[in-house]
Amino acid sequence: MNKLVEDDLKYIWHPCSQMKDYEELPPIVIDHGKGSYLYDINGNEYIDIISSWWCNLLGHCNQDINDAVKKQLDKLEHVIFANLSHAAAIELCRELIKIVPKGLTKFNFSDNGSASVECALKMAFQYHAQTGQSRRTGFMCLSEGYHGETIGALSVGSMDLYAKIYKPMLMETIHVEAPDCYRCPYDKKREICGCECFEKAEAAFARYGQETAAMIIEPLLQGSAGMRIYPPLYLRKLRKLCDETGVLLIVDEIATGFGRTGKMFACDYAGITPDIMCISKGLTGGYMPMAMTITTERIYAAFYADYSEGRAFMHSHTYSGNPLGCSAALAVQKILREGRVLEHAQTTGKYLHAKLKEALGEHRNVGEIRHIGLINAIELVRDKDSKEPFDAGLRTGYQIYKEALEKGLLLRPLGDVLYFNPALNIDEKTLDKAVEKCEAAIRMILG
Ligand SMILES: *Cc1c(COP(=O)(O)O)cnc(C)c1O
Repeated sequence: MNKLVEDDLKYIWHPCSQMKDYEELPPIVIDHGKGSYLYDINGNEYIDIISSWWCNLLGHCNQDINDAVKKQLDKLEHVIFANLSHAAAIELCRELIKIVPKGLTKFNFSDNGSASVECALKMAFQYHAQTGQSRRTGFMCLSEGYHGETIGALSVGSMDLYAKIYKPMLMETIHVEAPDCYRCPYDKKREICGCECFEKAEAAFARYGQETAAMIIEPLLQGSAGMRIYPPLYLRKLRKLCDETGVLLIVDEIATGFGRTGKMFACDYAGITPDIMCISKGLTGGYMPMAMTITTERIYAAFYADYSEGRAFMHSHTYSGNPLGCSAALAVQKILREGRVLEHAQTTGKYLHAKLKEALGEHRNVGEIRHIGLINAIELVRDKDSKEPFDAGLRTGYQIYKEALEKGLLLRPLGDVLYFNPALNIDEKTLDKAVEKCEAAIRMILG
């Protein structure tokens, strides 16, 4: 065994992995990346069709982002962000304010998605405490939601896979049954859907609305749940219901932000402004760990007072506002703006969907190929008509993942949902190759 692989297994506890699986599938040690491709130490090439955990927005080793970070590196690598500031952070806010939903004007910096969610929850809680609504202490979320893996973020997540064992440690939250458009319990087609399932949210608000500080959701796309896509109408209804009941709306755009769904933010499809918005992942193009919790003047004002009143938001992270992260994020904004990247992704998204349908649409185990923006997800089922899933113990998705790796495609499914969520500037030729490899891997396992 290669010495690097040997020592990896000796020392490293990889994230979100059963380490015993590494006995039969040892870690692939990546040497370098370029665009949508990764190259391992043995010279093998892989198409990174999942943007390395959804964050690599514009390809690996993007020259413009590289240059921006290198330039910043020779100037200032990090500085305490309390009281001190720097140009890259200020310029970044000047850029972001042009693209975030209208009315979001205050930017709080942190260093990962989960941290930005924790920040949002605390901000919402303290806002109510300081505006005479201290009875509002609870939170609501959608079933199958995912907002990160720290204790607060897990508490407002609903995926047993990540949360179940920790339940005794978590705060109690109200879980509203989420839209499930593929297996719609109301038997509605997407085209004629009136979001009948919103009655679940209405019932929860009627019961708990007055004691709830905020509801947190992933807009339009429940990513970790298996790229479940639901209509903008649901968001509009939720915005209205929150306004009527005084519940704050926290929108987690960590996975959906920066063009992933075809528009800059998923909120833009519904034309709504959340009270608090979380962003991370694509923010720095996947270069540096950075996140933001963005809010409105109204919320900000509840914290703004003489020091002696004790209203300040006493929340911080060492790496808040890290200049290297800001320089990467600034470069990303410049590329998105000048490179017409979203327009490109709209076109390639449609192209990819057509290709996948052509290759796999008729396969007996392909239940649905759903898509939004460039994201395309293939839900594998045992039976297409009944939509009955495979026995989870078979680990069908994982078998296909291994097969695809052999063929040079990094796929990493969510259970039995295979998905494409590549860099927004991926070209059609690479997509062709990826579809071909994906189809071959599926047919190898499922026939
Ligand atoms: C990835 C993700 C998070 C967590 O971000 P981390 O940086 O991994 O902590 C939260 N919410 C959503 C929707 C995500 O996709």
